[in-house]
Amino acid sequence: MMSLPNALTREEIIRWLHEKNEEKLHQLWQWADEIRTSVVGDEVHLRGLIEISNHCSRRCSYCGINAGNTSLVRYRMEKQEIMDCVDMAQKFGYGTVVIQGGEDYGIKKEWMDDIIRDIKSRTDLAVTLSLGERPIDDLEMWRAAGANRYLLRFETSDRTLYEKIHPSMKSTIFDRVEMLRTLRNIGYEIGGGIMVGIPGQTYVSVYNDLCTFQEMDLDMIGVGPYLPHPHTPLGTEGEEIRKQTPDQIANTELMTCKVVALTRILCPEANIPSTTALGTIDRQLGRVHGLQRGANVLMPNITPLHYRKLYEIYPEKAGNDSTPAETDQLLKELIAGLGRRRGKGPGGRLHTPHRSEEDSRGLPGIHKRMRGRTLIT
Ligand code: SAH
Repeated sequence: MMSLPNALTREEIIRWLHEKNEEKLHQLWQWADEIRTSVVGDEVHLRGLIEISNHCSRRCSYCGINAGNTSLVRYRMEKQEIMDCVDMAQKFGYGTVVIQGGEDYGIKKEWMDDIIRDIKSRTDLAVTLSLGERPIDDLEMWRAAGANRYLLRFETSDRTLYEKIHPSMKSTIFDRVEMLRTLRNIGYEIGGGIMVGIPGQTYVSVYNDLCTFQEMDLDMIGVGPYLPHPHTPLGTEGEEIRKQTPDQIANTELMTCKVVALTRILCPEANIPSTTALGTIDRQLGRVHGLQRGANVLMPNITPLHYRKLYEIYPEKAGNDSTPAETDQLLKELIAGLGRRRGKGPGGRLHTPHRSEEDSRGLPGIHKRMRGRTLIT
C-alpha cells in the first residue's frame, strides 16, 4: 500500500492533468484503484440504459439530438416498449434502469409517473431518471412515484463556456448545479458530471469541476470525453475554438482517465461509471481503463436496436449494434477478466461511517465531511 497524501492542492491536481510520465501516471491509477477497492469494493454495478426519446427542446451546441438538428428522425418509445426493456434488465440481473431522453415536453409528467409506478410495483429495480431540466412539479411527482435517482451533468462549471454551449430557454432560469441541489432536497440521489475536452475548456476549468464534484458531495459522477458531432454547431466550429484557446484541455482517452481517477480520489464514495463515450474513443481499452482507474459502474444499453442509432448524441457510440444479450455477455467477461464481480441489488450510494446523519441531509461543508480523507485544500 502506498502512503497516500490526505490532501491535494490546486497545483497538484493541475500537475496531474498535465502529467505525461507513464510511471507517474501508473501511481495515479493505482491510487484511484486502491481507494475504489477500499471504499466501494469490487462490485461493478450494472445499470440498464433505456433511451426513451430523442425529441429535445434544447439547443445544446455539443449534442447531436439538439432541436436544431433537422436531419434526425425523432422517436418516443411507447410505454409497452419501455416495460419490455425493464423486463429485460430484470432478466439480466441488473439492479437499476436508467430512463434517459432529450428534454422532451411530449413526455407528460403523468405518463412518466404511471411508468415509474409500474416499474416499482413489478420489480425491485432502482429507477434513475435523466430527462433534463424539468419543472420542480414533475420532479416531485416522479420522486413520489418511487424514482430513486436523477442524472443531470452540469457539463462544465465554467459559467461563460456553459452559457455558450447550453443556451437557456426563455421560459426557464434553471442552473444545473442549483437544480441538482433541489433534486437532493426532494430526496433523489443525485448525479452530475462533465464532458472532458469541450472546445474552450481549460485545465483550470476542469480543476474547478473537480472542486464542484467534491463540494456538492455528488452520489454519482459521470465523466466522458467530448466527441464532436458533425450536425452540431460545436461539431463544425469546435476545431477553430480549440486552436484559439490557450490551455485547451484534450478530449482524449488519457485525459478522461485522469479526470476519472482524480474524481475517485476526491470523491471516494461516489458511484462512477466507466462511460460509453470513453468506450467509444478507445473501443478496445476505454471501458476497461475506466474500471481500473476509479470507476465502479457500467451502463449497458438495452434500448431497442432500431432506436439506438437515432439517439445519436455523438456519432458511432460503442456497442450500438450489439443486442442486449451480446452486451451482457461482453460485460460479464470484462468484469470477470478484471477479477471483479457483478454488483447485486440496486447499488446505491454506500455511506461510510464518517458521514453523520446530519451530514447526509442538505449539503455538508467539505471540511467537516472529508475529515481524514483526501480533500482539495
Ligand atoms: N437530456 C438529458 C440527457 C442528455 S444525454 C440531459 O440534458 O441531461 C447525456 C449526456 O451525454 C449529456 O449530459 C452530455 O454530457 C453527454 N453528451 C451529449 N453530447 C455529447 C457529445 N457530443 N460528446 C460527448 N458527450 C455528449
